[in-house]
Amino acid sequence: MTQAPSDAGRDCGSGWQQQLAEGIRDPLRLLRAAGVPRDALAFVLPVHRTWPCLVTPYYLALARGGWPEDPILRQCVPAPEEAAAGTEAHTDPLAEERDSPVPHLVHRYPDRVLLLVTGRCAVHCRHCLRKRRWGEPALADDSGALERALAYIAATTTIREVILSGGDPLVLPDDTVADLLGRVRAIPHIEVIRIGTRLPVVLPQRITPELCAILDRCGPIWLATHFNHPWELTSAAETAVERLLRAAVPVVNQTVLLRGVNDSAATLRRLFRGLLRLRVKPYCLYHGDPVRGTMHLRTGTVPGLDLLRELQDSMSGLAVPHFALDLPDGGGKVRLEPDRCDATRRRRDATPADAPLRYRGFRGTDHTYPEP
Ligand SMILES: *Cc1c(COP(=O)(O)O)cnc(C)c1O
Ligand code: SF4
Repeated sequence: MTQAPSDAGRDCGSGWQQQLAEGIRDPLRLLRAAGVPRDALAFVLPVHRTWPCLVTPYYLALARGGWPEDPILRQCVPAPEEAAAGTEAHTDPLAEERDSPVPHLVHRYPDRVLLLVTGRCAVHCRHCLRKRRWGEPALADDSGALERALAYIAATTTIREVILSGGDPLVLPDDTVADLLGRVRAIPHIEVIRIGTRLPVVLPQRITPELCAILDRCGPIWLATHFNHPWELTSAAETAVERLLRAAVPVVNQTVLLRGVNDSAATLRRLFRGLLRLRVKPYCLYHGDPVRGTMHLRTGTVPGLDLLRELQDSMSGLAVPHFALDLPDGGGKVRLEPDRCDATRRRRDATPADAPLRYRGFRGTDHTYPEP
């Protein structure tokens, strides 16, 4: 990894902390900066009271268009529609609280757990799945809860992977990150640590050489980040990713399919090709969960599948993520695939020999496939 002189390193460290501290929390300031007309304020201010706004100056500066169409502003400026809670919407649709054996830990799948290390983020993404936890205190500040969570992981030997999530784990200072990683790494059956963070997108200055040295030391670590739009692929983001890769931290991306932000094949293609060029693997495209305050950003799974088919048929397989939704009530994630198999032939009484299945290829032509 590249070594910066220690003074430059210190400058870099205070740079991100200052950006974090300068996050715009004042709704009037944000709405003015985003060009929201005065007559919309009456609709937006009540939303801010339920789900407060917060955005880094860096991220806000990526906006190029006007509110409410701009894809950056749609992700960080409260929208009047957030107040219109759909009847299907929940604050915790995935029932994470139910799969939580001890506070701050979600253990749903046999081999991996989510450790929710903080409720803080650098930006309050309007589509956030865990809006309900914004601003919750950091697990790292509650030593009793941290001990209980680590004791659960240490006692449950089926767990191979710990996913640090939140909130955003990387808003925590370096020494806290190092301490958490060290404590998890000390558990013998933990093979892999994954960090879920949006900071390469909203505060790439956070990915300092010092942080990367910590990650390098505590590996194997995978980092899952959250780019949603090609305008987020800046040279600062590129530098952040480059540093992570040089510290032997593979970077994967989780995109949320968002209406009016990235729900077109052209936009997703630019995003995923851009990520691939940075050597970030597009891992997953999530359909929006039915979370209260985010319903206006959801697209529907059928349009999502149409987009996926178009991407699969037109670009490098490396650049195409899988498409998934998370079932309500803790049912778990389900991967969706466009149906390319001729369903009318799939009669229950038909054997493969008398009714060979037909598949539709990327050219749109149908082909039978010989079964053994
Ligand atoms: C999404 C999720 C994971 C990680 O799932 P992967 O398929 O490994 O990316 C783990 N635990 C919970 C509770 C999740 O929601
Ligand atoms: S960074 Fe992640 S956890 Fe934080 S507000 Fe955005 S989506 Fe939610």
